[in-house]
Amino acid sequence: MPASPVKIEAVETFLVDLPTIRPHHLAMTTMDGQTLMLVRMTMSDGTIGWGEGTTIGGLAYGSESPEGMKLVIDTYITPILLGCDPDRIGQAMATIGKAVQGNNFAKCAVETALWDALGKRTSLAVSELLGGRQHDRLPVAWTLASGDTARDIAEAEEMLARRRHNIFKLKIGRGDPHRNIAHVAAIKRALADRASIRVDVNQAWSGARASYLLAALLDAGVDLVEQPIAMSNVKGMARLCRESAIPIMADEALHGPESAFEFAREAAADVFAVKIAQSGGLFAAGEVAAIAQAAGIGLYGGTMLEGAIGTVASAHLFATFGRLEWGTELFGPLLLTEEILVQPLDYSEFSLAVPSGAGLGIALDEERLARFRRDRQERSFHVLPKLKTAS
Ligand SMILES: [Mg+2]
Repeated sequence: MPASPVKIEAVETFLVDLPTIRPHHLAMTTMDGQTLMLVRMTMSDGTIGWGEGTTIGGLAYGSESPEGMKLVIDTYITPILLGCDPDRIGQAMATIGKAVQGNNFAKCAVETALWDALGKRTSLAVSELLGGRQHDRLPVAWTLASGDTARDIAEAEEMLARRRHNIFKLKIGRGDPHRNIAHVAAIKRALADRASIRVDVNQAWSGARASYLLAALLDAGVDLVEQPIAMSNVKGMARLCRESAIPIMADEALHGPESAFEFAREAAADVFAVKIAQSGGLFAAGEVAAIAQAAGIGLYGGTMLEGAIGTVASAHLFATFGRLEWGTELFGPLLLTEEILVQPLDYSEFSLAVPSGAGLGIALDEERLARFRRDRQERSFHVLPKLKTAS
């Protein structure tokens, strides 16, 4: 087969610092802002593909940072990409995979840009290129994170009234677990059957502590518990799945198909949080989902709190999953104070509409985006996330 007449001409990466609507508390850090590492890939026919790599709290959550991804792409991935056929995304990613170990987030950002460009060239949505979408809208959870019970209930009531979210997640890995569970129980009592309440422990508990705390969460009416113990503790996760009636979800533990296979083989999760960046790209995340489906493990569409590009790329993949029984948490753009799209995403009816235009189906407001580029900031205006490490 002849190679594509289209070549990759340029790969530009830059960092964008955006403020968040409120501090976002996790077990490992508190985020006051979000840094997006964006990839702008220009093809010889003028098509532009966008990709994004974003982390949760710099390096607090995982081993890649936005600054590190930029360096990896600029130094190691771009020289390889410039010699790749942009129509053959699988081949391009395999070539990159041979030269660059790990660095899943950076690879995902680049793969996203390739899909966006291919979709634009072929006038197909990325979800159609990935096998065809089975959903046009995806349920979206919201994280209640004020830490104050009355405020969290009021926020949930407002979301229910606006029909924006009816699935709520609480981060309970930090502080006294009994007080946190009482907080969750009070929220569930107030919302009752009008909402699904889930918790994310972000690996904060020991196996022994998790055993009895899961019983308290069951009594509180919690539907799902995310990553209660250390990501490396596969046997511990398997034991909790056997012992507890509450579905247990693996999140941090999943780093692509190999770890997904290990968790499936050990029956160490009832649900997988599928994340495109953590998996190493859309292809790899699709493989994680396939392993889950073959093993009877439920699917949940996870987020790294990406901005619009990473969120929509995730949505295109998740839309191809036959069963997505736990919905998604693709609320990242709602956490940012600045709109970077020409046409904002449609969050309504408790769900996100998967864009249907070519490629990712979104248009970036590049003028607006430029105002937040780190390399173009006045020295006096620097919205870097202030990271406070959790004790
Ligand atoms: Mg999580």
